[in-house]
Amino acid sequence: MASCHVVFFPFIAYGHMIPMTDVAVLFASRGLKTTIITTSSSAHRLTKSIQKTINCTHQIELHIIEFEAGEAGLPPVSDNPDQIDSNEPFSRLLEALPTLQEPFEQFIEKSQPNCIIADMFFPWTTETAAKFNIPRIAFNGTGFFALCVSQEVMKLHKPNASSDSEPFVVPNIPHEIKLTRKQLPQLESEEFKVFLKVVIQSVEAEAKSYGVIVNSFYELEPEYARHYREVLKRKAWHIGPVSICSKNKEDKLERGKKSAIDEHECLKWLDSKPSGSVIYISFGSIVKVSSSQLYEIAMALEACNENFIWVIRNDEETLIPEGFEARIAAKEKGLIIKGWAPQMLILDHESVGGFVTHCGWNSVLEGVLGGVAMVAWPVMAEQFYNAKLVTDVLRIGVSIGDVEWSPVSMCDGVKRVSIERAVATVMGAQEGDAMRLRAQGLKEKAKRAVEEGGSSYSDLTTFIENMKAFKSKV
Ligand code: UDP
Repeated sequence: MASCHVVFFPFIAYGHMIPMTDVAVLFASRGLKTTIITTSSSAHRLTKSIQKTINCTHQIELHIIEFEAGEAGLPPVSDNPDQIDSNEPFSRLLEALPTLQEPFEQFIEKSQPNCIIADMFFPWTTETAAKFNIPRIAFNGTGFFALCVSQEVMKLHKPNASSDSEPFVVPNIPHEIKLTRKQLPQLESEEFKVFLKVVIQSVEAEAKSYGVIVNSFYELEPEYARHYREVLKRKAWHIGPVSICSKNKEDKLERGKKSAIDEHECLKWLDSKPSGSVIYISFGSIVKVSSSQLYEIAMALEACNENFIWVIRNDEETLIPEGFEARIAAKEKGLIIKGWAPQMLILDHESVGGFVTHCGWNSVLEGVLGGVAMVAWPVMAEQFYNAKLVTDVLRIGVSIGDVEWSPVSMCDGVKRVSIERAVATVMGAQEGDAMRLRAQGLKEKAKRAVEEGGSSYSDLTTFIENMKAFKSKV
């Protein structure tokens, strides 16, 4: 298999880079030659993950291409996701991404890989692949359910409902899923012009691509894995959950950024709590939380009196209500992590029983792997679809209530009573335990899926065979 060379090209956001690096680790563990292409300012984020392949036959190679938007006559732009916190620089970044095409193609010409696995944000890689007569495989970073729902919603243009808050049923999918227009991505305004253009290009490029790899496993969403292939007629391989390749403590500790808390301190705190008694609250790597929302969360956590780990961003630190930290420290009830949390390490700990999540796809999968019950609190992107999978299809979580898609990635507007109620439900013995039981059943299925003979393992084998056959046909 060493003759098969796969090139990975992840988008630079953590929610895309982390799983795609895991995919590369998975391929390397099957003896394939793998190269990840990235920009110089993103490369350092991959080094830890790549070390996981030390025991593989082939070390993952990193190929750095320079991001020189300035030279292409575009305004200077950062490709560091930490520095992109609003739509304007994000749009500039999207506009500048095609400047990577030339150095990317130089590498492809020189190295002649068997295939390119490229992120949805690089639609032009379909063109590159055609030029070099190799397959381009798309990676969207989400699951089958969201892929199917977004396709059906897109076909509707403007869903028929009497108002933006009136539910409509998503047509043609296996379950009765109700959404409202205000939960859908609102990309019509001028500020999303660039983003919308890239989304359209991405959908078109995906349709012309050889296929799609999906970070999911068949047993999690079987009806949607079939729907995507059989009804929407897309060629797809499910190979996840790819984060399972983070097996040991070190791998789980540092995914993406360096953790803001000492691992021993975090584990000691978790070890001191009874099994299933801790609720973990995190909104991922992009969503911001308004100061009033931070206040409501703090008040709710104090009132519901559960053990908790709450992750807040560095820039939100000063917004925590005065006296809150001292009070929770005195009661030894809570741990606040300011900055990057070792999320997988936390969710895998047996004292964690609940997860308040924004429903980024990686977080949903990590919650499933932790066997926890979730409070689904979506904010933007395709998170509202993932939330429906969690609450209505898998029934491993409850909804936070009436929230709407935020054009500024801001978590806001939920009152403490709703938070208290949702936390009490997932941490409770009645509904909460039933959800945990279902989540733990899925966790076992996930583990089996990636073992030899499992559904994800077998789909990856099929994929590798397809890639090798493609080369021999040319
Ligand atoms: N993550 C982490 N620590 C943090 C925040 C995020 O390890 O403090 C990881 C998380 O485990 C997940 C990824 O970053 O693997 C975030 O991806 P997700 O799809 O959940 O959300 P996004 O950040 O893309 O909105």
